Amino acid sequence: MSNHALANAARVLRESRCTLAFTGAGISVESGVPPFRGPGGVWAKYDPAKFEKAYFRRNPEEVWPLLKEIFYSRLVHAKPNPAHYALAELERAGMLDGIVTQNIDGLHQEAGSLVVHEYHGSTRRMQCMKCREFFDASNISLEKLPPPCPVCGGLLKPDFVFFGEGIPTDVHRAATDLAGRAEVCLIVGTGGTVVPAGRIPYIVKNRGGVLIEINLHDTSYSYTVSDYYLQGKAGTRLPELVAATLG
Ligand SMILES: [Zn+2]
Repeated sequence: MSNHALANAARVLRESRCTLAFTGAGISVESGVPPFRGPGGVWAKYDPAKFEKAYFRRNPEEVWPLLKEIFYSRLVHAKPNPAHYALAELERAGMLDGIVTQNIDGLHQEAGSLVVHEYHGSTRRMQCMKCREFFDASNISLEKLPPPCPVCGGLLKPDFVFFGEGIPTDVHRAATDLAGRAEVCLIVGTGGTVVPAGRIPYIVKNRGGVLIEINLHDTSYSYTVSDYYLQGKAGTRLPELVAATLG
């Protein structure tokens, strides 16, 4: 990344009256959270068909041990990395209005970010399929699987979006509303291949906004819609950008 691009992107961030960060798996890889897609990803090892909502409802005894293995043994030890902290710092400085994340690991909040729209939900909550009550996942014991609802004994489901399940209306509305106001979209660790989430930067771009992209590898945004493409690891590039922005 040239210092020129970094300085210009920092200036754009300073001058923006509303900035949104759009994040994906790439920001959490350095925290040890495996990506879903690609070689070494979750779907290279596990059959995505088991994570369809209808299959889960019919076969919770089969699917819950997989959920525990993928999301509640490794993720529990994942900690935010410098990229998560940099976004929290940018928000505290009044230069970031919110994050729309595709990640379900809760690491943005753990790093101190306050406005986080979890587009695909979160592993940190569970919902009862019967009484619809929500629970903090840390209060649910996973010794006995599937874990019963503490209120009614019904089937608990992690509150993230399964295959065959729509994006919750409220989070979709909040995310698109923020994108509709943003002058700058900071894309971090995502190529936007998953829709409808991947369209968020285009909402900003189509209104004349500026896209600043930080990714390790080229994406479909890089040489088409991104105004600034700062290539490299999120845990390195993002703190550099935030330091340059805050001076
Ligand atoms: Zn219940």
